[in-house]
Amino acid sequence: HLDECGEIETYEELVPFVQTIKKQHDDIMKNAQMRQDFTANVSHELKTPLTSISGYAELIEHRMASAQDVPRFAGEIHRSANRLLSMINDIIRLSELDVMETEDMVFERVPLYVLAESCVDMLQLKAEKHNVTLELKGTPCHMAGNREMVEEILYNLCDNAIRYNNPGGSVTVTVVPKGEKVMLQVADTGIGISKEHQQRVFERFYRVDKSRSKATGGTGLGLAIVKHMVAQHHAELTLESEEGKGTTITILFEKAD
Ligand code: ADP
Repeated sequence: HLDECGEIETYEELVPFVQTIKKQHDDIMKNAQMRQDFTANVSHELKTPLTSISGYAELIEHRMASAQDVPRFAGEIHRSANRLLSMINDIIRLSELDVMETEDMVFERVPLYVLAESCVDMLQLKAEKHNVTLELKGTPCHMAGNREMVEEILYNLCDNAIRYNNPGGSVTVTVVPKGEKVMLQVADTGIGISKEHQQRVFERFYRVDKSRSKATGGTGLGLAIVKHMVAQHHAELTLESEEGKGTTITILFEKAD
């Protein structure tokens, strides 16, 4: 910028220049703050299950658990270890996404409807366990994107729609072409998200109800991963939700022939 500064002669010419530099500075500071928060959160989030594993294992080691307690404690250790694994997997995924340049993305012709079909099949058992009906609507069509990322987006959205649902509720996945775009929509009749939380749920580790997220195997990173992947597709995401009624997430991807 300093090189170009030499050509500036009037105050009017200087103003946009200073504004650009200020914006760049703000972005850098914001990123640095986000990184710092993330590191602090990661340490905290990883410590919780580890403390539980260590505590229960210590009780068993020192024979301080009765014969009836041992299976229960072992169960707690198992669940906490699984939690730790999911969290580490999601953290690794996010750090991979952080260093990936959008220009490096190789876009392919992705059969969105077929992928949605597989996702719905894969999650059918989980939906049944939650007493939720899960169905796919729309028409077979293709989009331009990265197959693995699209599979992950689909899985995360459908998984949330089941986990934050009510018994007897439903999840409807819709895939339809819309002009030059392909629409993916995941709509649920679940607990919904109040206005104040709607934008924040895409932040790393942000959860409206921590205990519900934990009890259903959540890490608080699913939507942050989705947001990242959607941005890398230059796609558009909208969230509509009403507390107690349900949530609808819509993504518009580029269409492929
Ligand atoms: P988690 O692993 O906790 O589910 P996510 O990043 O996937 O993390 O979602 C962040 C939070 O957003 C969740 O903890 C939950 O409070 C809220 N949320 C996400 N999807 C839904 C949904 N379909 N209905 C209601 N709340 C949701």
